[in-house]
Amino acid sequence: MVAPLLQFLMDRLRNMPRAVETTAEQASQTGSIPVANERPDRNISGFSLLDHLDIPIVLIGPGQNILDANKAASRVFPGFRVGFPFSAGIRAPHVLEAVAYAAQSGRRETVELIERVPIDRSFTIRIEPLGQPAGDLLLAFEETTQARRIDATRADFVANASHELRTPLSAILGFIETLRGPARDDAAARAEFLEIMHHQATRMSRLIDDLLSLSALEMESSSPPNERVDLNEHLEGLVGSLSGLAAQRGVRLEFTHPKEPLMVAARADDLSRLFENLIENGMKYGQSGGRVEIGLEQLVGQVRARIRDFGPGIDKRHLPRLTERFYRADVQESRVLGGTGLGLAIVKHIVQRYGGKLEIESEPGKGACFTVLLPLNN
Ligand code: ADP
Repeated sequence: MVAPLLQFLMDRLRNMPRAVETTAEQASQTGSIPVANERPDRNISGFSLLDHLDIPIVLIGPGQNILDANKAASRVFPGFRVGFPFSAGIRAPHVLEAVAYAAQSGRRETVELIERVPIDRSFTIRIEPLGQPAGDLLLAFEETTQARRIDATRADFVANASHELRTPLSAILGFIETLRGPARDDAAARAEFLEIMHHQATRMSRLIDDLLSLSALEMESSSPPNERVDLNEHLEGLVGSLSGLAAQRGVRLEFTHPKEPLMVAARADDLSRLFENLIENGMKYGQSGGRVEIGLEQLVGQVRARIRDFGPGIDKRHLPRLTERFYRADVQESRVLGGTGLGLAIVKHIVQRYGGKLEIESEPGKGACFTVLLPLNN
């Protein structure tokens, strides 16, 4: 059986761009016949070959001195120098202990290393005793920084989602207790509490809908759009269906658009979700401005949609983070208005899915403007 470390190195070697292959190609152009998988017997030492790999690899010998190291190793750990102790490059005691143990026992070890300086990076270090000569070890550092970041983001997301669900749920449970106990025979309190419970349950349901939308978008992100929609007609319908809600809020929706169809390759449902979120935000947060402008324009190869409100706007410091999940400029205001903090994250996902662009501009006191650019498919 091939040792896991060697297998790992072989996999990496197989995937790297090979100078040898270019040579074979050149040989075929000049008329000589290359042999499949032929590796010309050149003076390539194991380590000069490993210089082509982007993973640090180090060979250490007795006394834990470095016998050889590839270029990636010296780049990532500048303290690694041939002839010098391994501990000059990595001081983490648990790594040094694992190395000493592997050398002494001849057993394979795997340890995690987290480096904070100069930048946050993490690695899984595989330590492979070579057997001959006894005590020699081959170490490969597989970078796990990206995977750790993804795990941290996922954990954050689960914590945020649970917190968002727990808040209305606690309120509902509290009111149920009150209705069972002190307010049992109080008809007025019952009506009032039921109203609040309804509001909280609606909020939970909206949050679950948004979470499901986000996860569906993530799962489908690579499948190509197979529908074509006239954005002109689509937005006209959408603005019409939102006009009742706008009237309730005392907001006028003003839609301006060219006459000709503006075709985009996208699912109608996605476009509805995208523009509903933006128009509803304009009505919610920009209610005091009394109107929301929705404009469509044809550019070269693109269609530009602008949703502009004339409310209080958004402070500049929030702009870069608005599309993060659960990020709100004002948490309390968003909750009171029934927001989930996921609307703009969904918007961004949809825009990216169709190869478009989202821009957010705002001048506090003068409102906010959300611009969506989508590729035209006329
Ligand atoms: P929410 O569900 O809270 O509305 P969104 O992701 O849609 O979540 O928006 C994130 C935050 O961006 C909102 O909580 C609000 O603070 C801010 N925001 C979005 N649209 C506007 C707007 N038109 N005017 C002012 N603030 C806005």
